[in-house]
Amino acid sequence: MSTSKSADSCNDAVTVLHEYLDGELTDQRRNAIITHLDDCSGCFSKFEFEQELRAVVANHCRTTVPDELRAAIIAEIGI
Ligand SMILES: [Zn+2]
Repeated sequence: MSTSKSADSCNDAVTVLHEYLDGELTDQRRNAIITHLDDCSGCFSKFEFEQELRAVVANHCRTTVPDELRAAIIAEIGI
C-alpha cells in the first residue's frame, strides 16, 4: 500500500473540525490538529474554508438579518 499514513489523521481532523473551530478541544487534541494541518494541505484548506464560512455567516448575522430569516432560524433551533 502506498497510501500515506496520514489517512487516519485526516479522518480524525475532519471529525473534530467543528469542535476545533468552536474551541471545544483539549489543548492536546488541538495541538495534534494544528500539527496535522501544518503538513496536510488537504485538511488545511477544509479548515480554512470552514473558518471563512463561519466568519462570513457571523458577519452577516451581526449586520442585517431579515425578520423572516430570523424567524425561520428561531423556528429551526426551537427557541
Ligand atoms: Zn489531513
